Formats: sequence, structure tokens, C-alpha cells
Amino acid sequence: MKSLTDLTFDNRFARLGDAFSTPVLPEPIAEPRLVVVSPAAMTLLDLEPREADSEEFAQVFAGHKLWSEAEPRAMVYSGHQFGSYNPRLGDGRGLLLGEVVNDAGEYWDLHLKGAGQTPYSRMGDGRAVLRSSIREFLASEHLHALGIPSSRALCVTASSTPVWREKQESAAMLLRLAQSHVRFGHFEYFYYTRQHDLLKQLGEHVLSCHFPACLAQPEPYLAMFREVVERNAELIAHWQAYGFCHGVMNSDNMSILGITFDYGPYAFLDDFDANHICNHSDDTGRYSFSNQVPIAQWNLAALGQALTPLVPLDALRETLNLFLPLYQAHYLDLMRRRLGWLSSDVGDEGLIQRLLQLMQSSAVDYSNFFRELGASTPDQALARLREDFIDLKGFDAWACDYRARSARDGADQAQRRARMHAANPKYILRNYLAQQVIDAAEQGDYGPVRELHAVLSRPFDEQPGFERYAQRPPEWGKHLEISCSS
Ligand code: AMP
Ligand code: MG
Repeated sequence: MKSLTDLTFDNRFARLGDAFSTPVLPEPIAEPRLVVVSPAAMTLLDLEPREADSEEFAQVFAGHKLWSEAEPRAMVYSGHQFGSYNPRLGDGRGLLLGEVVNDAGEYWDLHLKGAGQTPYSRMGDGRAVLRSSIREFLASEHLHALGIPSSRALCVTASSTPVWREKQESAAMLLRLAQSHVRFGHFEYFYYTRQHDLLKQLGEHVLSCHFPACLAQPEPYLAMFREVVERNAELIAHWQAYGFCHGVMNSDNMSILGITFDYGPYAFLDDFDANHICNHSDDTGRYSFSNQVPIAQWNLAALGQALTPLVPLDALRETLNLFLPLYQAHYLDLMRRRLGWLSSDVGDEGLIQRLLQLMQSSAVDYSNFFRELGASTPDQALARLREDFIDLKGFDAWACDYRARSARDGADQAQRRARMHAANPKYILRNYLAQQVIDAAEQGDYGPVRELHAVLSRPFDEQPGFERYAQRPPEWGKHLEISCSS
């Protein structure tokens, strides 16, 4: 275990030079206070958990102090935002402080979000508010605990520095960890600025640092694209199976590693609604829940376009066509686990579709349905769940088919329960829960956010005494409007 000052840096991205990022120092925020820390994320850096108790910890993660080996830089990238190409984005309010190598030899980017203005800030103030920093922190660590690939979060620091959004709020910083911060938009930037030598250099960096196995393939860049397609198919399958809506699937928010990245107005579904739009600013529903599948493919096509100087177009197209079948296979696999099935059957897809339609028309709570389905025998569970449906005839027909289908996977209820509870979380980061702890934190009370984070770090465990966190939202919590403002 290490102390904060012991970290070992090896800043590979910084060494790519000024065409890829610009040196910028963090602008500290005033009177820093540690809001919440993730012990699980600390272990990624081999950090001794007690380190978080020191004065210095909050100072470092509020931009007041830096390691001598850190080389803070703002990365340049572009991207398609809501379908339109924006030629220059970049880190407008976050800095890559450096890359830490842990004892296992893994590299972790330290990215300080809310660190002040950079050459890429455009009209922005370079800051992040407490509310959005807490939301990203909770989601990063919760998705990871659910088994959904994600960037990670080490801590949030609050301050007395005022920032203006729709009203006056206060600045915060989030320390994000990821094995890479390279986005689809990084490749797009060098493609559209016609700097194809730099595009190649970026590709070589990604290959050697993140996809070394692809280097042994006859066409390394094509192998890399295939890897990105596969990882994204698996990622989106997880989002759809667990009811996660990202909200801003712009190509600059898509990670080359296929992890959930750049959290904004995200939401987990409460009542099942395939058309749910979690981003209040998304007027057309481009990023609605069910659109996430075609949009991921659209973003992969944008990445493929940016790789055309490196890989023949036909080969990219052929690889892109793997996305949907790969997605579908992963999705079915996850849904079978959620429904308690070990085997696969040709009729499964139809049964899943019918269930979702029934849930949609009766506004059934998406997460709690699956948890309850595994809690007792199929007969008992279905008898109880029946109360939540309006179309009883439809539900009864489905339940009959579900019972028959489940019988084929063995009748041992203890095994079925253990298996289903390991796939169906009891605790989900619902928007109203996030809102409650944000309200408290804005008043200076960090107890609730710490408790919620602890509960959501073990989402599959029963956790007696904390059942209130598994409840459906109250009426006010169903209609929270979360916008891009952060
Ligand atoms: P996001 O919506 O957080 O994915 O950000 C989209 C782009 O806007 C990125 O280039 C961000 O760095 C930039 N950005 C967002 N908020 C701010 C801000 N408050 N100040 C400066 N740049 C920002
Ligand atoms: Mg972004």
C-alpha cells in the first residue's frame, strides 16, 4: 500500500507532444472539502485507504498541489454532437494530470474534471458543479459494481468557489480514473484536419498501449477497429439489459476502450419505457433509451470514417456490420441470466420482447421486477408480480410460457434464487436517490452521499437496514428534469 506521494508516473500520452494536448495548470478551488471517496478506486492506485483522511488529499484533488512527476495537459479532440460535426472540442474543463502505473503494472489516467479553463474552454468557465460531480462519481462506481464497463471515480472535492449555471452554484472537482481518455473524437479530429501522419501516430499509441494483441494481426488498425466494435457491442448490451440511459452519446463521449464515459444527464429506468429520454435538452429523442443501439453503431461508423486513411473502406464496413449481431448475442445472454435461464432457446427473444411490451404498457418498475422474479419460486413470484400489470390476459399468457421455459432449466429454487440475485441488482442508482444526496451535500451534509455510495457499491447484496434505497421513486422523483448543464 502506498501513500499519496508515492505514486509512480509514466506519462505516455503527454509524450505524444503538443499536437495532441496542451500543458495547462489546474486552477485551484477555494476551501476544499472532501465530499466522498471510493475505497475500491483507491486500490486501483494501491493507495492506503487512510490517505483520504489527510488534509493533503483534499488539497491535491482540488488543484492546490501537484506531484512533481505530473504533467497536466488538456487533450484536443472533436466529435459529432447530436449528429453535427463540431471541428474542435477538447478538454475544456478537465486535465489529464498524468498516468500512474500501479504495482500490477496497470496504467491509470488521473483526470481532474472541473480544473479550470483551457485553450479548449470556448465560452465555458472550465468548472464543474457539485451536483454533476456527485452524479458522475456515484454512477462510475455503481456501474462498475454492476459489472458494466465504466471509467472510475476516486473522489469529489467541494469548495466555496461560486459558479453560475441557471442559478449560483459552487465549484467541485472529480478525480476520474480510466485506462485511457482517448475518445472516438480524437481520431475524428486528426482525420478532419487532414493530419493523417498524426492520425497514424495516435493509432500507434492506442495499439501499443491498449490493444497490443492487435499488433500481431496482419492488419493491426483493422483489428483495433474490430476490438472497439466488439467492446461497444458488449457495453451497449449491458446498458440495454440494465436499463441505463447515457443521455449524450456524442462521438466525443465514446471511449476507445468501450467503457461508459463522460456522465451527464444519465438515468436508470424506473418504470420500463423503451422511449425514455433522460436528457431534458434532447428535444428529438436522438439519445432515447432504445435509440442507444443504432446510435452506438452510428458513432462506430463515424470512427470508421476517421480510420479510412489507415484501413480500406470495405474492410471497415464489413467489421462495422458485426456490431448488431454481436450486440444481440450479448443482450440475449444478459437477459437470459436476468430471467434465470441457463440454456438458450430460439423462442427466448420473443419472450423477452413480450415481457418488455407488457412492462411498458403497465409502467412496471424495471429493476425491481427481475429482483422479485428470482426471490421466490416462479409460481409465487408470478402471482405477486401479476398485481403490477394492467393487461392481465397478456401477463397470464406470458407467465404460462415463462413457467414452461424456466422448468427446462431445473427446479431447484435455492440455486435459481442465487443465480438470479447475482444478475439482478437490489439497489440501482435512481435519479431521485441521487437528487436527495445532492440536496444534502449542497447544504454541506456529506453523510447521505457517502452512505448511498456504499450501498450502491454492493448492488446485488441484500444489505438489511438499507431497503429504503430499493424503493420505487416517489411522485416528485419520477419527473426530474436533468439537462446538459453541469
Ligand atoms: P460534455 O457535455 O461535458 O461532454 O462537454 C462537451 C464539451 O464542452 C467538451 O469539450 C467539454 O470540455 C466542454 N465543456 C463542458 N462544460 C464546460 C465548461 N463549464 N467550461 C469549459 N468547457 C466545458
Ligand atoms: Mg464530453
